Order: sequence, then C-alpha cells, then structure tokens
Amino acid sequence: MWRDRKTGPDRLGVTAPQAEPDPITASADPSGPSAIAGPSVITAASADPTSSVTRTEAADGEATGERTIVRTEGLTKVYGAGDSEVRALDGVDISVSPGEFVTVMGPSGCGKSTLLNMLGGLDTPTSGRVLVDGNDLTTLPDDRLTELRRRRIGFVFQSFNLIPVLDAVENAALPLTLDGADDADERATRWLVRVGLADRLHNRPDELSGGQQQRVAVARALSTDPALVLADEPTGNLDSKSATEIAELLQQVAAEWHRSVLMVTHDPRIASYAQRLILMNDGRVVDDLPLDGSREGPIRAMERAGLL
Ligand code: ADP
Repeated sequence: MWRDRKTGPDRLGVTAPQAEPDPITASADPSGPSAIAGPSVITAASADPTSSVTRTEAADGEATGERTIVRTEGLTKVYGAGDSEVRALDGVDISVSPGEFVTVMGPSGCGKSTLLNMLGGLDTPTSGRVLVDGNDLTTLPDDRLTELRRRRIGFVFQSFNLIPVLDAVENAALPLTLDGADDADERATRWLVRVGLADRLHNRPDELSGGQQQRVAVARALSTDPALVLADEPTGNLDSKSATEIAELLQQVAAEWHRSVLMVTHDPRIASYAQRLILMNDGRVVDDLPLDGSREGPIRAMERAGLL
C-alpha cells in the first residue's frame, strides 16, 4: 500500500532541495494568495521562461480548446510477473480540469493508491502516459520531476505528515523553505490565515486538533501555488465534524482558489462534496459521473456499479 511504501516529507518532493536560489519559486506568486484567484494560478509559473516545469497548453488540449490539469492515457501498472502478476492499473484514462474537485472511490485493492502514486510522480507506469499541468511525467528527467512535484503538485495525506518540532508556519512553509524562497513564511502565513488558522500560526502539531493539523497540511500543499492537489484519504484520521470541515475546505480549494483537487476516499459521505466521482474496480475505471451535492450520490453510484 502506498502509505507503507513511502511516507514522510520526501513525498512532498522536498528532499532534494536545489543549492541555488530558485527563480521559479521566487517568481511564481509574487503577491501571494490574494492575487491567485482565477486562471493566473496556471500562468504564473508558465510565465517564467527558465522553467521546464510549466504548463504546455499545446501539449495538453490547446488544439481541442480544452484544458486539463491531469490526464492519463492508457495508464497501466503491472506488479510482478507470471503467476504472481498483478495489474494494479489496467488502461486508465482520466482527466481533471482546472479548478475541478474529483474524488476516486473503489474497493480495497482496486488501484486507487497506485493511481495517486502515478499522478504524483511517485511511481512509474508500466505503460501509458501521465500528463500533469502539460508535463509528461513518464518522460520527465528525475530532477525536473522532483521540481514539478515540489512546485506544481500539493500533497495531503491521511496522517497529516507534519514535522513535530516545527510550528504551523514552519510546516506550511517547508516546501518553499527547501526551495530557497525568501518569502516562505509570509506566503505560508497567508495560506494559514485563509484556511482558518490565524490564531494558531505558532502552535506545533501536538498543540493542534486533528482537523487543525490537516488544515496546516492543506496550507502546506497550497503554499507552492500548485496546479493540482492530491489528497489521499484526507479525512481518514478525523472525527465526523472535522472530516466535513476538511471536505468543505477542499471544495473551497477548487471552487475559490482554482486548484484541481483529486481525492481518494473510502467514505461516500466525504466523496459527495466533490463535483465528480471516478469509480474504480480491478484496476479499471468503471464509472465517471458528475455529483450533485447529494450526500447519497456516491453510495447510489457504487450500488449501480455493483461495488457494494
Ligand atoms: P487501493 O489503493 O485501491 O487499495 P492499491 O493501488 O494499493 O489499491 O493496489 C492495487 C493492487 O496492486 C492490489 O492488488 C495490490 O496488492 C497491488 N500492489 C500495490 N502495490 C504493490 C507493490 N508494490 N507490489 C506488488 N503489488 C502491489
């Protein structure tokens, strides 16, 4: 399982900081969250000609007039060989638009974590392609993949993955700090205020509730101005009320702050906060449907697909 395979801050793409100051991070969001609403979130990094990790519209939908932040094409992942072969993903084609909140559900072992790993550039497919923000992860050199993961993809985990000795600002600022941004604390603070933690800026994780810790993690995910937020069971360690608040916060991330959110959850109630549901079974997408906000929508879809 992906939580077992790789945990901790390295999954944030922050373990390979570059020695030199980084022009992209410094220029990605000069005026902070207050200036990021709307399509500018996508163009900010792209405006920097020195970055190879930019959205390349021509490669990702410009010809058709459609834009996607994430697209997979025939994504396949096979573990093992012969009798022990497992097709964790078997020809998955999905796409996520800018500012869209999509949830992925399916029975244990259906390939959800493998899919998230592929989208986050944490694992390589056996065949097929993964395009994130116009970059083909399957052909990107390692250093560029690390850069893209750190700057264009935000990660939110079930277990928060905060650093215990750092306070909320330092935790939320971590990807920026490691990236050499000189305004890291300032940008992190703006995000913490936005996610409702203005009065907890200098508390360490053990001084925060689970819901508050997950808010710090969401602020950390947003601090680099990503195009995409990947959330792996983000409410799995939370009580019902806090879980609802985090689901609503992820709605806000997509609807107000225009990031694409892709969330894996086993909880149909939490899934119902998303705009679209992708149902998986045996490594394949078995349904892909819009949700209308009704709390029962995902359950009904799972029943229809024979997954309950
Ligand atoms: P889910 O997240 O939906 O529970 P996973 O993506 O974790 O499913 O797993 C999909 C399938 O791939 C399962 O059969 C699982 O046992 C298998 N699998 C996942 N990771 C590995 C691995 N590293 N080696 C071998 N098999 C794996």
